[in-house]
Amino acid sequence: MSAYLNPIARSSGSSSSLHSVKKEEHKNCFCGKRARIYTCWTLKNPGRRFYTCATPKEGHGGCHFFEWFEEDFCPRALDVISHLNHRRIYLEEKLKLVEEELAEHVVKKKALKLEKHELIEEKVKLELDKNRVGKQLKLCVFVVALLVALMIIFK
Ligand SMILES: [Zn+2]
Repeated sequence: MSAYLNPIARSSGSSSSLHSVKKEEHKNCFCGKRARIYTCWTLKNPGRRFYTCATPKEGHGGCHFFEWFEEDFCPRALDVISHLNHRRIYLEEKLKLVEEELAEHVVKKKALKLEKHELIEEKVKLELDKNRVGKQLKLCVFVVALLVALMIIFK
């Protein structure tokens, strides 16, 4: 079981299906090492497992050993797996779109936060201006009243 890299493969390996689950056989690749089992997720063979070289093809080493682990699924099973596989691809694309939308919202939220901060600063500045103008106005009223009083006294 340790050769199953894919969690889906692992769960299908331990399923309590009515059909007998094929036992994993030891197979050697052309390099003479124990071949690993992977699950194929192409549209043509979704969920079908295969043996291949344990050494990754990228980099040096590795051979091109390939052998299917199990026979073709029955048409009904293939239909169901294909349907689920298409559904998975659709949902993954949808999730990607939602994640992109969410990222856009986060950026917008940051911009709005910044704008709010600037508006608060402006409000504080305007309040200070208002206070200053109010004081000047009071001073003007006082001077005018004083002048009127002086005019009345020295008439
Ligand atoms: Zn090999």
